[in-house]
Amino acid sequence: MSIALKTLAVLVAALTAGLLWFFPFTVGTILAGWVGGLLFEYFLHRLYHSHNIGTHKEHHTDYFFLEPLETAKRAHPLWEYTKYALIVLICLMPLAALIGWKYYFIFYAGMVFHLMVIYQAVHFLFHYDKHLPQSVTSSEWYIWWRLCHIEHHWHSSRKNYSVSCPFIDMLFGTYEKPRPSYRDVPMKRGGRKVEVVAETAEAAQTGEA
Ligand SMILES: [Zn+2]
Ligand SMILES: [Zn+2]
Repeated sequence: MSIALKTLAVLVAALTAGLLWFFPFTVGTILAGWVGGLLFEYFLHRLYHSHNIGTHKEHHTDYFFLEPLETAKRAHPLWEYTKYALIVLICLMPLAALIGWKYYFIFYAGMVFHLMVIYQAVHFLFHYDKHLPQSVTSSEWYIWWRLCHIEHHWHSSRKNYSVSCPFIDMLFGTYEKPRPSYRDVPMKRGGRKVEVVAETAEAAQTGEA
């Protein structure tokens, strides 16, 4: 990890600790909302695969046959994510009876911040990271973090569901260690795009769904 990143991590940790000290319940509720967002990301992705949900299958096919930037752009339909955010807002309402409206909205803010900002940015960048500094993209931790998701695309579509935090997969027993290297995408088959719905490289190569 570069010096700048280490300094940033220390500053964020110190700021969080300071805020926790002065506003323990507010910061604790935001952090709880963030954890809620991480879990929501994990279980929604898992649901996508267990129920073969169309838009996500398209993302897995795009990965093999479109240019990385196009894959990244198509994977983030903001209107669809906004709908999820509204569904979560409604489903979580019973929580307001427990912690009050103020903290309900604070919890929700933490959750939505993760889903609409952190997850979107991390997943987009894992598919197209040409603009990230080389000091980041060549660092060991970044390579491992990104390859966890690439492994999910290439070989293990029922593993590594959490894009933004592979430790969640370790917690639920769905972690798969990334391989040292992967072939470049997109795959070319006689120069034409192949109309298959592929979850893994094997499926893409054989043309099977
Ligand atoms: Zn992806
Ligand atoms: Zn997936």
